[in-house]
Amino acid sequence: VAEPKIPGFVPLYQTWESFYSWYVYRRIQDCFCRPVSGVPGAKMVVIDRESNDHRWSFQYTGGHSTVLNFGSYNYLGFSQNSGPCAEEVEQTIKNYGVSVCGSRQELGYLDLHKQMDRLVADYLGVEDAYTVPMGFATNSMNIPSLVGKGCLILSDELNHASLILGCRLSGAKIKTFKHNCMKDLEKNLREAIVDKQPRTHRPWKKILIVVEGVYSMEGSIVKLPEVLRLKKKYKAYLYLDEAHSIGAIGPHGKGVVDYFGLNPRDVDIMMGTFTKSFGAVGGYIGGSQALVNHLRLYSHSAIYSSSMAPGVAQQIVSSMNIMLGRDGTREGEKRIQQLKWNTRYFRRRLQEMGFILYGNKDSPVVPLLMFMPSKIAKFSRESLNRGMGVVVVGFPATPMTKCRARFCLSASHTKEMLDEALQITSDIGDLLAIKYSKAEPPSY
Ligand code: PMP
Repeated sequence: VAEPKIPGFVPLYQTWESFYSWYVYRRIQDCFCRPVSGVPGAKMVVIDRESNDHRWSFQYTGGHSTVLNFGSYNYLGFSQNSGPCAEEVEQTIKNYGVSVCGSRQELGYLDLHKQMDRLVADYLGVEDAYTVPMGFATNSMNIPSLVGKGCLILSDELNHASLILGCRLSGAKIKTFKHNCMKDLEKNLREAIVDKQPRTHRPWKKILIVVEGVYSMEGSIVKLPEVLRLKKKYKAYLYLDEAHSIGAIGPHGKGVVDYFGLNPRDVDIMMGTFTKSFGAVGGYIGGSQALVNHLRLYSHSAIYSSSMAPGVAQQIVSSMNIMLGRDGTREGEKRIQQLKWNTRYFRRRLQEMGFILYGNKDSPVVPLLMFMPSKIAKFSRESLNRGMGVVVVGFPATPMTKCRARFCLSASHTKEMLDEALQITSDIGDLLAIKYSKAEPPSY
C-alpha cells in the first residue's frame, strides 16, 4: 500500500517492536505459537510442521509427536482428563451445561460459584474471596476499583503485564521500584510521604504496593516479610499476585505467605489464578469481608462479564478439596512434596552442569540464561527434535541480552522424566556453548 506523503505521517505499525518482530521474530517464529493437542500433562502432543528456509510459512505434515512437557504451568499436576477431578467436572457439565450465560449480577451466580468462593477463602485463610473467569482480567479490572486519581502505586519493575495494565487503567500515579529491592521500595515510600512543603496532610489518598509471589520470568520469590514491614511502617496497602506461587510453594501449598509462615490477613489484597496449580482457568481476589463486598459491587469484572464456566469452577472446587485433604486422602500433601523435590533436584543438577539459572531454589519456574536471541531459537528447535517441549523467552518479554529458556516443573514429572530432560538439556548446552559457569548463580 502506498504511504501518503504527508510530513510527520507515521505508518500504523512502525515501532521499534515492529522492526524487531519483522526482522528477528519472523526468523524464529517457529519457536512460538506451535499448535499442540491433548492434555498439557507431564507429556504433551505437538503438531508436526515444517517451515521453509526463511521460516516465512509453515506446512503441516499431518503428523504429531509426544514430547516431555516443561512448558505448561501445571505445578501440582492437576491438568488431567482422568481421576476424581475429571469425573466431577464431567458430571457438572452434565448438570449445568458449559456456560452460565450471564454475569454474577444477572442470574449468572451459581450455587457452585458460592461454594467455590467460600472454598477459596478457606484455602487462603482470609475472610472472603470472589472469583473471576480470567486471571488477566482479575488484575486489570480490580486494581482500578481500588485506587484512582490522587493515589500512588509502587509497582515492582518486573510485574506482569496484567498488573501493569490494571495500574495504568486506575489513573493513579505509578512509580516502579527495582525488582525485589527493599531499599528502593523504602526510598520510594519515604519520598512519597515527605512533602516538600510544610506538612499539613499526607500527599496521597492511598499508597498501594503491588508485587508478585513468584516472578514468572525470573523464578524469584518476593521478600514478603520485608514488604509487610514497610507497608505497615508507611501505612500503605499491599496487593499480592500469587499466580505462580499459590499451590506451588509453601509447606501446605498456600503460596508465599505460607512459605514465610506469615498471616494471610496482613496482606490487604490477595490475588491469584487457577490457571497454574489447579489445572483450571480464572483468578480470585481474597481479603477482608469489606474488600470483597466492595469488589463484588464495583469491579468491572464482577458486573460486566459472564461468570466462570461451571466445569471450570468444578475443577477448582475438586482440586482445592484434594489440596485441603477434604477428599480424605493425603494426595494433596504428596503433590506438594513431589513438586518441591522435583524443583530442588532439577535446579541443583542444572547448576552442577554449569548452566546459569535465575531464581530461588524452591521456585518451580526455572529460567536458564542463554543471553543471545539466536541461541534461544536453536535451543527450542533442538529440544523439540530430541523430545522435550520448553518455552523460550526473548525481547520484548525480557531485555534483549537476557534471553532464556524457561522450564516449569510439575508434581507429575517422574524422576526418569527429569533425568531424561536433564540429559537433553546437557547435550544442547554443549552444542550451544551455554554452560557458562560453575560459579554460584545470581539470586535475588
Ligand atoms: N498474573 C501473573 C503474575 C501471571 O504470570 C499471569 C499469566 N501467566 C496472570 C496474572 C494472568 O493469568 P491468566 O493466564 O490466568 O489469565
